[in-house]
Amino acid sequence: MHLKIYRTRPDIGGIVHTHSPYATGFSFSDEEIPRFEGFGEIKDLYIKKVDYATPGSYELVELASHALFKEDVIILKNHGVVSVASNLDEAALLAEFTESSAKTGFVMNFLKFK
Ligand SMILES: [Zn+2]
Repeated sequence: MHLKIYRTRPDIGGIVHTHSPYATGFSFSDEEIPRFEGFGEIKDLYIKKVDYATPGSYELVELASHALFKEDVIILKNHGVVSVASNLDEAALLAEFTESSAKTGFVMNFLKFK
């Protein structure tokens, strides 16, 4: 998957794939991870959710690399997060931002239904 993404996006130099708990939780839900301001230049980040495909399958490789052609962060349905950036540190920062947003979104949803 990483190799195909690098071939699709020659502008990037880092890919991070996580199963971070809150963002992965959202991957099992129809809820979107809310967007928050206050993170400088990544405040307008859009987090696209990609349809489910079996981990390790060529179908997943195709879905992920296609979605990342235009996006920098995606949620793999029922799986986890993939982020890309010009280098590994920036890609990790996007993954951390995604997880923080998911965590805040989870608490917001919990309080709404309490
Ligand atoms: Zn995985």
